Amino acid sequence: MNETEITAEFDRACREGQLSVRYQPQYNHSTGRMTGAEALMRWEHPEHGTQYPADFIPVLERHGLIRRADLYVFEQVCAFQRKCLDEGVSPVPVSVNISRHDILEGGYVSELERIRRRYDVPVRLLRTEITESSAVGGLKLVSTVLRELHEAGYVVEMDDFGSGYSSLNILKDLDVDIIKLDMNFLTGDVGGRGGTIINAMVQMAKWLDTPTIAEGVETVEQADYMKSIGCNYIQGYVYSRPLPGAELLELLRRTGLEPTSPAMRLLQPMDAEKFWNPESLETLIFSNYVGAAAIFSYEDGRAEILRVNVKYIKELGMNITEEDVIRSDPWESFDPENRKIYEDTLRRAIASGEEESCETWRTFVSRCCGEDRICIRSHIRVIGKAGQQSIVYAMVQNVTAEKQRYTELADSERRFRFASEQANVYAWEYTIGTKQMRPCFRCMRDLGLPALLENYPEPVIENGIFPADYADMYRDWHRQLEKGAEHLEAVIPLTVGRVPFHVRYTTEFDENGRPLKAYGSATLVVDEPEKAE
Ligand code: C2E
Ligand code: CA
Ligand code: CA
Repeated sequence: MNETEITAEFDRACREGQLSVRYQPQYNHSTGRMTGAEALMRWEHPEHGTQYPADFIPVLERHGLIRRADLYVFEQVCAFQRKCLDEGVSPVPVSVNISRHDILEGGYVSELERIRRRYDVPVRLLRTEITESSAVGGLKLVSTVLRELHEAGYVVEMDDFGSGYSSLNILKDLDVDIIKLDMNFLTGDVGGRGGTIINAMVQMAKWLDTPTIAEGVETVEQADYMKSIGCNYIQGYVYSRPLPGAELLELLRRTGLEPTSPAMRLLQPMDAEKFWNPESLETLIFSNYVGAAAIFSYEDGRAEILRVNVKYIKELGMNITEEDVIRSDPWESFDPENRKIYEDTLRRAIASGEEESCETWRTFVSRCCGEDRICIRSHIRVIGKAGQQSIVYAMVQNVTAEKQRYTELADSERRFRFASEQANVYAWEYTIGTKQMRPCFRCMRDLGLPALLENYPEPVIENGIFPADYADMYRDWHRQLEKGAEHLEAVIPLTVGRVPFHVRYTTEFDENGRPLKAYGSATLVVDEPEKAE
């Protein structure tokens, strides 16, 4: 239909009931229950067939006819809700679209109210959708209408959030109750850039304590993704196309429903002002998570991973995708003992509201890499609560290498000390960075040394174990160790008896090649003949 046909035939269309309403149901993807519906206008033209809004609404808007059309839709919706109530079918709230042009001329809300009262429909069964663009150039007007809608008790949804350029400012200025995100801005790739943007928007909505509905959701993958980032409400072809009223009525007869619950409540709300500022630290932290992190929900032993970042996957050395992690059972990798450690820490974090830490071993099995056992240090903090459920933010660090190094060292040290006990060797461990020395038991027993000596080697020079004439040489050894000397060796007369000992140092380096520790030993120099025997 061209513009002339539309304007010429519009009046007759209204009179003859050619304008009709389709209802697109909205579902809670976690429970599969219907939570609401959106009313969408159609023009059933006797000759041209069904006309879609994109083809005729802009024309109606240009010719000042949209207000009449929208009130017509609103009235049909009221009639539909009345029918539900009369027939004893539990209705769901139905949203109607409000065009920018509807409100240019005042009194729109009182028109709505007049119709609603005529049909005696409770206001909670009617919702309104405004678009970001309706605010462009006329924020004052929209704010006024929004206030009027709120005063009359309507829930107001922000339609197509994120499609405009000024989304953030709009949200700050307009106090809407629900945000609708359109997946068409996502262009298919849930894991890519589109996903990041959508994720950011859901986060923003959560911080504002505003529930979100994802619309235009076409695939189960998209719906799962939205759920994974905390947006459970879904409207789109994946669940249902827009339905004629009679079909929605049938569907309602058959299915249960539930109210739209508020988003997760944050324990310590962020400073919204700062958050809106694109240069703020909050925004920076938000968009580039500081480190490897996961967000999960926890209730009574049940945990569900909601979101992990790419660094998380890398840190854990897993050869899988974020989606795989989210789908897997978080407890799968824990044995009972480590799970208890983790859950105890979690409960402490929930009770205290503070950050709590623990280290747990986990076993990951992947098809390509086989089994991998790693140790994770987790810093856990509760960031939100929804009923009994806690939303937990966990920063993770893979400390497997650190742990292994520690056990290896402890092992070798134990062996070393044990061997020196057997073999008449005095041994000690010198930590190069801190100048601390830890002597073996024999040293402690025979030479009366404490378990830890600071500022080594000064104490043993002072107490005369090392003779004064060797003091400078011995001090120089420790400077050499600091510079990375691998091995040092000399015969030095030790103790009060000035008995000659072979004194040796062997240095251990960290993974970056920096000297870490030096292992010292002193063995009695035995006479050659004895050795020959
Ligand atoms: P909208 O408010 O964003 O409505 C959602 C549109 O997305 C609807 O198109 C709907 O049929 C379509 N849709 C639903 N699920 C999917 C999906 O899975 N994938 C895709 N690609 N699309 C999906 P529709 O009915 O053609 O309406 C288009 C637009 O026309 C609406 O966008 C709304 O801005 C406007 N409109 C519709 N009905 C009314 C009305 O009664 N009054 C006013 N003022 N505007 C209306
Ligand atoms: Ca809409
Ligand atoms: Ca929309």
